[in-house]
Amino acid sequence: MYYFLFIVFSFFSSSDESVFLRAYPGIIKSIDQNKVNFKSGKNLAYNDFAKKSTKELLENPDIEDQLYYTYNTEGPEKNNDAGRIRNDAFFKEIYGHSKEEVAKNLTTVTWCPKLVNVKLNFSKVNNAHVALTNVSKELDEHPEWKKYLTNIGGTFNWRNISGTNRLSAHSFGITIDINTSYSNYWQWDCGCKDESKSLSYKNRIPMGIVEIFEKHGFIWGGRWKHYDTMHFEYRPEFFK
Ligand SMILES: [Zn+2]
Repeated sequence: MYYFLFIVFSFFSSSDESVFLRAYPGIIKSIDQNKVNFKSGKNLAYNDFAKKSTKELLENPDIEDQLYYTYNTEGPEKNNDAGRIRNDAFFKEIYGHSKEEVAKNLTTVTWCPKLVNVKLNFSKVNNAHVALTNVSKELDEHPEWKKYLTNIGGTFNWRNISGTNRLSAHSFGITIDINTSYSNYWQWDCGCKDESKSLSYKNRIPMGIVEIFEKHGFIWGGRWKHYDTMHFEYRPEFFK
């Protein structure tokens, strides 16, 4: 009987929750009884058990909903919106609740010292800056990609996503836009901000750049149905 209960318990507790524990070690202490317990002593509800439309997933996600889509690397026809579903309270708890709090956790990363050599602000929390430094080191060995890596579009910027009341991932210091001149963004191509419009995918960013970012825990906006090909965001939970 006890063994049976153990199996049932393991089945329910071994899924998505452990992904967050592995991705944010030392920041998320545990997830149990439907609560995410942060090292700070705060906790947030994990799952609201509500069934949501695509719109509701974007506008009112719980923490569990963040993994609703699986990040896949199989090509544009398989694109979904993995990583666009963000529970603001979760990111605020990890990276800072305000512009000032996030700013306190920033450090500078020297971006591609040989090819570009500019200083970028990035969060130290969860070693996000180490991940970006590792990306930078590898990209720096590829002079053929220099034009994509210069004129960085931006990293830290506490702001809402265009046309929404939702905070952009740039607010948390975990996101980098590479050169916007070679980028495609669904809102620019569509000339709209309407999520329900059908879009035709476009990308000019070499996949070699994407693979290096992904290797170090960054998701790429070019794998989104609502594509944003300049955009790379440190989201280790999608690679655990
Ligand atoms: Zn961006």
